[in-house]
Amino acid sequence: MEKIYNLAIVGAGPAGLAAAVESYLQDIDDIVVLEKNVNHNSTIRKYYKDNKRVDLEWKGQKVELNGRIVFVDGTKESTLDLFDELIENHNIELKIQVEVTSIEKEDDYFNIHMAGSTIMAKRVVVTIGRMGKPNKPSYKIPPSIRKKVNYTLDECQDGEKVLIVGGGDSAVEYAVDLVGRNEVAICYRRETFRRANPLNQRNIANAIAHNEVRPILGVNIDGLEDDNGRVKVLFTEIEPETFDRVIYAIGGTTPSAFLASSGIEEEDGKPKYDEHYETNIKGLFVAGDITQESGGSIALGLNQGYEIACYIKGGCKNCKD
Ligand SMILES: Cc1cc2nc3c(=O)[nH]c(=O)nc-3n(C[C@H](O)[C@H](O)[C@H](O)COP(=O)(O)OP(=O)(O)OC[C@H]3O[C@@H](n4cnc5c(N)ncnc54)[C@H](O)[C@@H]3O)c2cc1C
Repeated sequence: MEKIYNLAIVGAGPAGLAAAVESYLQDIDDIVVLEKNVNHNSTIRKYYKDNKRVDLEWKGQKVELNGRIVFVDGTKESTLDLFDELIENHNIELKIQVEVTSIEKEDDYFNIHMAGSTIMAKRVVVTIGRMGKPNKPSYKIPPSIRKKVNYTLDECQDGEKVLIVGGGDSAVEYAVDLVGRNEVAICYRRETFRRANPLNQRNIANAIAHNEVRPILGVNIDGLEDDNGRVKVLFTEIEPETFDRVIYAIGGTTPSAFLASSGIEEEDGKPKYDEHYETNIKGLFVAGDITQESGGSIALGLNQGYEIACYIKGGCKNCKD
C-alpha cells in the first residue's frame, strides 16, 4: 500500500511551515512539506537583501500572533534561522526540489502531482505565495536592455544610476539600501509612501530630505527604450530620463494557472476560500500571500497556518476554541 500522508503542504514559506509546525503541535502526524526550490523560504532568500531588517508589522499591518511560533522583529538571517530550528525540532518531512504541478481529488484523498512522481494525502494546504512570478510592467521591455531591468537588487553594481519603481515597503527598502553606493531615484504613481510601514516611511523621508534618494512622485511610466545600452524611461507626465538600471518592486501575481489546474476557484485576484481557508474543494486549503490580492506578511501566514491546524484538528488543543 502506498503511504497516504495526513497532511501535505505545497510550498515551504512562512505560511506552509507554520501550517506544518502548528499541525504537528496539535498532534497531527505524517505531515510532508513539498518545496520546489533547493531550500525552504525561497522568497525570503531571493528577494530580501542580506541583513535586511524583517518587521513583524509589515505594510503597517497590526497583527497579533495567535499560534505557538514565536516570531519577532529581526533580520533575514534570524528569520531563516527560526525556520531552520522549527523544521529540525518538529519532525517536519521537507522534500525539496519537487515542484507540484497539480492537485487532484480522488475519493477521500488527494493525488499531488509533481514532475515524475505523485504522492497522496488526506488534506492539502497550498502556500505557494505570489513571488514565483513578480509583477512586471504591462509595456514591452526591449530585449537589448532586459538585463538592466530587474526585480531584485542582485544585479545592481556600485556607482550605477538606479531607478526603483514602486511605493510599497519593498520598493522603499530597496531605494534606501542603495544610498551611499548608487545614485538613486524612486518612481511611484502616488504622491506619498503611505502604503509603507511607519519605519520605512521615516527612512525614505530621511533619505529624500538628505538628497540621498530623489523622489519622482505622482508619475507613471509609459515605456522603456534602449539608450546606447542604458535604460531610457518614458514618463507620462515628465520628460524622459536615462538610468543604468531600473528595478521594479511592485509585488507578485496570483498563480492562476496552478489554481486552475487543481480546480481551485478564483475571485477578485485570489483563490476563493471560507473562514477556515478551505477552498471550494473540501480538504484543500490555501494560506499566506496567495490569500491576499496584494500579498500578505510573515505574521499573517503564521496565523493562517495556525488556524488551519486548529480547524483540521477540530478545535485547538491549547485554547478554548
Ligand atoms: C522584498 C520583500 C521584503 C519583505 N519584507 C517583509 C518583512 O519585513 N516582514 C514581513 O512580515 N513580510 C515581508 N515581506 C512579505 C513576506 O515575505 C511574505 O508575505 C511571505 O514570504 C509570504 O509567505 P508565504 O508562505 O505565503 O509565501 P512565500 O514566502 O512566497 O513562500 C512560497 C514557497 O512556495 C514555493 N513554491 C512555489 N510554487 C511551488 C510549487 N508549485 N511547488 C512547490 N513549492 C512551490 C516557493 O519556492 C516558496 O518557497 C517581504 C516581501 C518582499 C518581496
